Amino acid sequence: MKITDAKVIVCSPGRNFVTLKVTTEDGLYGLGDATLNGRELAVASYLADHVIPLLIGRDARRVEDTWQYLYKGAYWRRGPVTMTAISAVDTALWDIKGKSLNVPVYQLLGGASRDAVMVYGHASGADIESTLHAVAEYLRLGYKAVRVQSGVPGMATVYGVGRGDFYYEPAEPGRPPECLWSSEAYLNFVPHLFERLRKEFGSAVHLLHDVHHRLTPIEAARLGKSLEPYHLFWLEDPVPAELQESFRLIRQHTTTPLAVGEVFNSVYDCQQLIQEQLIDYIRTTVVHAGGISHLRKIASLAELYHVRTGCHGATDMSPVCIAAALHFDLSVHNFGIQEYMRHSAETERVFSHAYTFSDGMMHPGDAPGLGVDIDEGLAAQYPYRRAYLPVNRRLDGTIHSW
Ligand SMILES: [Mg+2]
Repeated sequence: MKITDAKVIVCSPGRNFVTLKVTTEDGLYGLGDATLNGRELAVASYLADHVIPLLIGRDARRVEDTWQYLYKGAYWRRGPVTMTAISAVDTALWDIKGKSLNVPVYQLLGGASRDAVMVYGHASGADIESTLHAVAEYLRLGYKAVRVQSGVPGMATVYGVGRGDFYYEPAEPGRPPECLWSSEAYLNFVPHLFERLRKEFGSAVHLLHDVHHRLTPIEAARLGKSLEPYHLFWLEDPVPAELQESFRLIRQHTTTPLAVGEVFNSVYDCQQLIQEQLIDYIRTTVVHAGGISHLRKIASLAELYHVRTGCHGATDMSPVCIAAALHFDLSVHNFGIQEYMRHSAETERVFSHAYTFSDGMMHPGDAPGLGVDIDEGLAAQYPYRRAYLPVNRRLDGTIHSW
């Protein structure tokens, strides 16, 4: 089954997406998400200028061989641009394989390990009262798990606080927005937020919180310890994770479960974190960590060490990525939870999908392949708009992690 054509579709229905479409000699095609938020055109060029010429004429059925060919064949290994491009090819080939065998992709991955996939939504508000209101709305929709972020008194902008209750998009056209940050104000505030949440909503709902890489290990240890009475499902990205051993210090001080990995590209970014049992959830995604093929290897390593998966699922993961993630989530034994941020109405019109949400759970559907498609004509009506994620400064002007 030779690949006869492949192309990159760049569009911006509400936000930017890069999609790879691979077509075979018998007319089947597969889709892969290749969106790297804020650096989209680098991946588009990597695919169009360097990868697509290598795909033409290859056998679309050889998913693993193609992965290794692109990874080892590039000589320059890993990195977000390379791995996002490889992810897109891998995802598209799994889509084609499912379509060619007339089965949903999860059946090719060992079949369903569960009936449906628990997802968490994002509730936020400018202050505690509006945040409580947002959480109540998510619970009304049936969510069993909610990530909660709130404005902090004395800080003008805070990560994760959206403009509306159900849609949060941090990337903005133009130059990167600049935010100000105080770890001190944040650390003093967050325990009060979760104390109120548990008082208001009881102990049954799963509560999550994202630090977004902003603390030092000892600060994160303090936060984890202070949140223990409110038993979080997880504390996410407490510190930047380039230094994997930094999690050891956090671990020594708190039983609050830890999650990390949305910016990781490969198993080598989390090998130590997993093997030393320094985390509880690994958040690598299909689109940025080598596609379904490589994510399965990360999950297999994690399974040995009681680490569960919790794939990143922000709005910059296109519906193609979300579909692929749901097939992976449904099949992998050590699944934990899936992040699910609702896409804009424009995005939903451009990408049709078989996956569904009901009562806090999602299912990829039983359409052959990934069960997702792109309306190329409609996509063309939404041209690319350069956009950047914000940058962050401490109160004295020093650049800090956003
Ligand atoms: Mg996050």
